[in-house]
Amino acid sequence: MVEPDPRRSIPRTDRLLALPEVEAARDRLGESVIRAVIADAQSRARSGELPVAEVTPTVIAAVTDQGASSLTPVLNATGIIVHTNLGRAPLSPGAQQAIADAAGYVDVELDLESGKRSKRGVGAKQALLRACPAAEDALVVNNGAAALLLAVTALRGSDSAEPGSHSTERRSGTAAAARPVTPDEIVVSRGELVEIGAGFRLPDLMVTTGMRLREVGTTNRTHLADYAAALTPATASLLKVHTSNFRLTGFTAEATLPQLRTLADEHDLPLIADLGSGLLTPDPALPDEPDIDTALRAGADVVIVSGDKLLGGPQAGILLGSTAAIERIATHPLARAMRTDKLTLAALEATIAGRGNPVHDALHIDLDRLRERTETLAEAVGGSVVAHDGRVGGGGAPGVPLPGWALEMPEALAAPLRAGDPAVVARVHQGVCLIDLRCVPEAADDAVAAAIRTASDRLGEGS
Ligand SMILES: *Cc1c(COP(=O)(O)O)cnc(C)c1O
Repeated sequence: MVEPDPRRSIPRTDRLLALPEVEAARDRLGESVIRAVIADAQSRARSGELPVAEVTPTVIAAVTDQGASSLTPVLNATGIIVHTNLGRAPLSPGAQQAIADAAGYVDVELDLESGKRSKRGVGAKQALLRACPAAEDALVVNNGAAALLLAVTALRGSDSAEPGSHSTERRSGTAAAARPVTPDEIVVSRGELVEIGAGFRLPDLMVTTGMRLREVGTTNRTHLADYAAALTPATASLLKVHTSNFRLTGFTAEATLPQLRTLADEHDLPLIADLGSGLLTPDPALPDEPDIDTALRAGADVVIVSGDKLLGGPQAGILLGSTAAIERIATHPLARAMRTDKLTLAALEATIAGRGNPVHDALHIDLDRLRERTETLAEAVGGSVVAHDGRVGGGGAPGVPLPGWALEMPEALAAPLRAGDPAVVARVHQGVCLIDLRCVPEAADDAVAAAIRTASDRLGEGS
């Protein structure tokens, strides 16, 4: 007698599709994902990797656990608040609700009262203007890089020049100035030509629309006179970039916004300030980070910030400034290619209008409480509590340590923690795994403890 091959009894696709759990997950995951999960379990059973009796439970577990997208939520235990690899700012509950509310049909460009078309993004704009009284107008685009590109491309010389026909006869009196020129030079300090990450460089970005950079000063020192000496009829704008991801220390000098304002006024030029991180108002925790309100009061025509750095909102590029400058930027053809999605507008409005958000909370965390939570975790899972500096991250406040605490565990724990459910991303540094609860919601502390136990068990099995 030959034993029947158990692989012949692998559950068939139609039977697995008919399971109530699979039926329930169908709308969420879609037919092709469901079928792929089933085919995978069957093929692992055929190869002997999965016991036949495990096929049905495996399929049920897979469709129940699987998210609707391939993005896996993680607990950020790195202590880095704006972690670019982890999606930068985590949204506040209000912003998450706003996204859910806006996900279906929504009156993003319709006035429900009159039934007429309305302006896109009015709510987000009003929230921004309420939060930044120094701004006359605002525009939201896809991200900070887009906002910068748009501003330097759209703003060329005095406001009276028609967009598109950027001819000017400024500074007439010499033969050269009498010929109409197209202002296409952005005057910027050599010390502010920043690479923002992943190999992307702001100077490369700005010349993609045909603009040219007129670099002035030296890496460490740039004076107002350097800007003044570089001005010609071809000058389109003065640009000041906050060197957000690196620090220049020692023998340094830079022209301030009020100084540049004076020069810009003398020559009827727009002054653009790219602040990178978006503090609405000064924050004592970050004394060196510029804020929007101060930069506008200091004389910038337009200030540019990212939505998902210190502002704690969704990915967005925010332009705030004078009515004339924003109007010119908003009506430039490129603006349409950088238009913000309704979900972003909803989340940004909720972030700005709401009180607090996870980024703000992590930045201003109560250190005694953080230590207590870390000690509780150590009692539950072992390891030692050590002093650990968090960071702003995302190219913000590079030199600023955020003193705090972490649980120190063996380095080998980091990989199984990342692979766990929930996935926990800890910091691997100098041969140890550091679990910093600064950016972990307190309600998830027990989940972190459970994840560490599971990861330790896995490690034990593997060795
Ligand atoms: C981050 C940053 C940018 C780019 O902003 P994104 O929102 O990431 O596109 C531009 N300029 C500065 C100074 C920055 O710090």
